[in-house]
Amino acid sequence: MNILVINCGSSSLKYQLVDMSNEKVLAKGLAEKIGLEDSIFTHSPDGKYKLVKKGTLKDHEEALNIVMDSLVDEKYGVIKALTEIDAVGHRIVHGGEYYSSSVLIDDDVVDAIKKCIEVAPLHNPANILGINACKRLLPGIPMVAVFDTAFHQTMPKEAYIYPLPYEYYNKYKVRKYGFHGTSHKYVSQRAACILNKPIEELKIITCHLGNGASLTAIKNGKSIDTTMGFTPLEGLAMGTRCGSIDPSIVTYLMGKENIDSHEVDEILNKKSGVLGISGVSSDFRDIESAVEDGNSRAQLALDVFDYKVKTSIGSYVAAMNGVDAIVFTAGLGENSAYTRKNICSGLSYLGMTIDDEKNSIRREEVIISTPDSKVKIIVIPTDEEMAIARDTKEIIVNDVLDKVLY
Ligand code: AMP
Repeated sequence: MNILVINCGSSSLKYQLVDMSNEKVLAKGLAEKIGLEDSIFTHSPDGKYKLVKKGTLKDHEEALNIVMDSLVDEKYGVIKALTEIDAVGHRIVHGGEYYSSSVLIDDDVVDAIKKCIEVAPLHNPANILGINACKRLLPGIPMVAVFDTAFHQTMPKEAYIYPLPYEYYNKYKVRKYGFHGTSHKYVSQRAACILNKPIEELKIITCHLGNGASLTAIKNGKSIDTTMGFTPLEGLAMGTRCGSIDPSIVTYLMGKENIDSHEVDEILNKKSGVLGISGVSSDFRDIESAVEDGNSRAQLALDVFDYKVKTSIGSYVAAMNGVDAIVFTAGLGENSAYTRKNICSGLSYLGMTIDDEKNSIRREEVIISTPDSKVKIIVIPTDEEMAIARDTKEIIVNDVLDKVLY
């Protein structure tokens, strides 16, 4: 079974074609700057040369057209015809309270995704464009929606209700949703495999530390709290996002700087985080090298970032009354020995000891705590695309079985 995984952003489209008989990635690629004159399309077929095209991609449908052409291209293709694609798995950012797991896409699902546009105005419209374009280009092929929010639908009410007038939850569904769910679920399940224990018996804190960053407390395989909230702005400091701050700062800055809500939103989402503090970059590699050059604001940015992660880990240990494993994943979590060391060295009271030699690895599945460490520290590269492909396969197979049996 070949599954095409589609991840549509507002101006980008990532894809992967996976042969599920052996989970081999046949091809993957990316269309960037969709809607602009200088769009870039990159297609990387397994075992063949990479194809890079520059030009104008008018919209997501045109981008998907070029994806399909490349997949069946004589020189760069990996399949003979589009009929070799058995299903499509779509990454959908927001499923609101409608979905707590992945689902076969029909008109009702599309309606629900549309209803969530209000709370995900940047992401869900692009996801719908992707679904509609696939419907036209691959008619009759089943499609599955895999939601970033779904894994967190198990949070108890005390974790997701904000201390605001309750009517805003009733009227507008203002509550914590959480994001990066596909990644948190994937790495927690991998952690249970690595520890050779049933996930139902484990308390795990997963740290997805990338440009966007979030932590999740996973008790017995279920998300019971996560740091991102109503939007992906809450929680940890991030590349350009401020994370949790005193809400009064918003109105204070609007008055002082004479700016409106859009401008303040732009500052909190795009000019804050480690970029805002360091003034150097949102990229942790640039910040780490500025630190090496003696830049004290770059050092402060890393210190603030690590401090927020450390204190959030502490609060999730309290939420779960203990922890068996801490998992690091995503760009920074998988690669930065400095960050992992800095976070974990402040948690020795939990009986957690990092092994400096093992911690020097990058992008590998490795336990980096010492053998006698009470809490295991594990680096696990995330693979959201594979998680989407697996969910898609499971749903398609179950759907076929249902139809055969009933
Ligand atoms: P992601 O959003 O998961 O793609 O992660 C992107 C972030 O990971 C960027 O801020 C990168 O600077 C950071 N990152 C990637 N590789 C490294 C590395 N070797 N050392 C430090 N940070 C890294």
